Amino acid sequence: MRATEHNETVTIVGAGLVGSLLAVELARQGYSVEVLERRPDMRREVIDAGRSINLAISTRGLYALRQQGLEEEALRHAIPMRGRMIHPPKGSLVYQPYGKDDSQHINSLSRAWLNKFLMSAAEESGRVRFRYRQRVTHLDAKTGVLTVVDEATGEERREEGRVVFGTDGSGSAVRQALEQVQGFESTQEQLGHGYKELTIPAGPGGAFQMEKHALHIWPRGTYMLIALPNEDGSFTCTLFLPWKGPVSFESLDTPARLEAFFEEQFADAKALIPDLTEAFFARPTGSMVTVKCAPWHAGGKAVVLGDAAHAIVPFFGQGMNCGFEDVTVFNRLLAEHGSWESLFGALEKLRKTNSDAIADMAVENFIEMRDSTGNPRFLLEKAVEKV
Ligand code: FAD
Repeated sequence: MRATEHNETVTIVGAGLVGSLLAVELARQGYSVEVLERRPDMRREVIDAGRSINLAISTRGLYALRQQGLEEEALRHAIPMRGRMIHPPKGSLVYQPYGKDDSQHINSLSRAWLNKFLMSAAEESGRVRFRYRQRVTHLDAKTGVLTVVDEATGEERREEGRVVFGTDGSGSAVRQALEQVQGFESTQEQLGHGYKELTIPAGPGGAFQMEKHALHIWPRGTYMLIALPNEDGSFTCTLFLPWKGPVSFESLDTPARLEAFFEEQFADAKALIPDLTEAFFARPTGSMVTVKCAPWHAGGKAVVLGDAAHAIVPFFGQGMNCGFEDVTVFNRLLAEHGSWESLFGALEKLRKTNSDAIADMAVENFIEMRDSTGNPRFLLEKAVEKV
């Protein structure tokens, strides 16, 4: 059945951050792993890594990497952020350290780098086979038989029933299949805000144009700009804005309106983003969703982890960290359980309450920021103390 036999092949759907880390762990435990990923191999083709360009990895995420001997290399590519740098609408910057000393910090890391690193680590085990451009469209939760579409040829095929790990993100096809399980329930709540990524390029000689070791925040009530540093001296800025309303993605519909808005609200950032208008109108606008579901598994045939089980809006920077912690707990349970079904049940029991709580806190933080517009001082304090 598992662990000690070392001859079982399992399937992972989705080679994102959580799926790739899980592949490393399953291979380390002696399983043969096949990973089906709908996108091309990002190590060979230049593709958008999806979601944010960089992200903050904190203790729980780093701990999961440490279990696989991957933390040190990841930290070599990370930039410690030792505090928040608040950019008020007017006046001087305010720096708020995260802790009493520099050891307390979070880290900015490139999503694409981390994903490629984890895929390569999985492959180096010799037990993991990634198959790209393979989109799972259906799973029979009773038999584990998958329906897969080859995105290159358009051909549809069925794959034999193995144990399936669904790490296919917030729109998970594996989670949809769990609807076949009696009593399954799931909720998906879209935020009324979207996000847009913009870039502050490196200065001459690769110099950082703002404080390197900080998470920069421009809190403005119904909207907010943040910026995280990248290894090459640039910063990735993320603008969170309502979809509709007086100041929204809908209202900022001309270059003149956009420029005026940035000049009024984010003048210092605007001065550092030379392609503001071009990038704003060319780049996609992302949406954010909270997903909760139960059960996380169909007997011992399939289970969901990461965003597939619990998508979290990014206002605490905890989605990936939480997904990595699923893998940490999974590792521990592997040694303790004799069947996939009991292991998956235990995983859900240990993780669901925590991940739902973080998801709620992330939304509460967002609502607090959104609703505090009448009191700029309160707003500023509340908005910054949690990011
Ligand atoms: P994903 O990263 O979504 O990966 C899913 C993979 O499955 C993808 O490769 C996809 O192509 C593939 N896939 C999907 N459907 C199928 C299918 N049907 N068949 C085959 N393959 C499929 N988290 C943090 O911890 N820190 C942060 O700072 C942070 N910042 C964020 C900023 C923003 C703007 C956003 C939107 C999110 C942020 N997050 C952050 C959350 C983080 O991005 C997610 O929690 C994380 O990506 C989840 O990883 P995952 O592997 O579960 O899912």
